[in-house]
Amino acid sequence: MKRAGRVHGFASRPHCLSLRGQAAAHGGVFSDLHSSAQPRIIGVPVLLAIYRSTALDSSPAKPWKLAEVAYSFVKQQHYEVAVLPLGATEPHNLHLPYGTDTFEADHLSDEVCRAAWQQGARVVLLPTIPYGTETNQMAFPLAMNLNPSTLHLVIRDLVDSLAQHGIRKLVLFNSHGGNDFKPLLRELYGRTPVQLFLFNWYHAVRDVYHEIFEHADDHGGEAETSLLLAWHPELVVRRPDGTLAADEGATRLTRFEAVNRGWVNITRPWHLLTTNSGAGNPHAATAEKGRRLAAAVVERLAAFLVELSNAPLDERFPF
Ligand SMILES: [Zn+2]
Repeated sequence: MKRAGRVHGFASRPHCLSLRGQAAAHGGVFSDLHSSAQPRIIGVPVLLAIYRSTALDSSPAKPWKLAEVAYSFVKQQHYEVAVLPLGATEPHNLHLPYGTDTFEADHLSDEVCRAAWQQGARVVLLPTIPYGTETNQMAFPLAMNLNPSTLHLVIRDLVDSLAQHGIRKLVLFNSHGGNDFKPLLRELYGRTPVQLFLFNWYHAVRDVYHEIFEHADDHGGEAETSLLLAWHPELVVRRPDGTLAADEGATRLTRFEAVNRGWVNITRPWHLLTTNSGAGNPHAATAEKGRRLAAAVVERLAAFLVELSNAPLDERFPF
């Protein structure tokens, strides 16, 4: 490992110099930039080579994002808090991509960690797990299930990895309502030095939800559609007239009043609950509403991450 770092260091300088020579041979990007002569078109390979040669020495654009930083950077860091985003692969009405929950986990956790990092939190964002529990969605094609017990084992192994790497604080950043991690927190309590926190982002903004949206959203409705319109409008399917290629997201009641009122809980068979997997009317969604919702999530969790990063793990933690 050490050797790799030295090779990298030695290699970077001559490489950098030879690229500059190469650039001059290709028509002189540097002379073009500094002369008053007619600018010449610079070849893309030359521009890429120059970019790479300078990027070797610069700090990463997203120092909190593990998937985008190198060992040469990580070995100099002290991360206090890890964030593990969890998504899902499932249909969302007729118009949103199967990766909707994973996009939400990716984007929201990245924006949260950016804000926390800029406020001094030593936070590392782990890659998103793109599968969640789908046992009640399996009547829909290509809903991809991980059973709760499987998912818990995966997270337990990642918790053990963090413990070995000396990171003692982990936030599970959950974006999928079918995932239920509280039993895992209870099971791991006292068995690992890692303190676990669960953030279901959609629960954290319940109180501001109706200030932003007209319709409730259980799945693929106004809120989720607004988030996708904010980040990936090209992935939201529309009809030729420009309206969303979605149904109304209506849901059915069961035959039991106690279930319908929430006195008794079940796992809802999604193909019987919905028409096309959507639960909640999406048609009033806008990108602006999505940005407002994301901002509320960022404001709330970033402040917590800063506090958590600064908190000493004493014997009375977290009290
Ligand atoms: Zn979803």
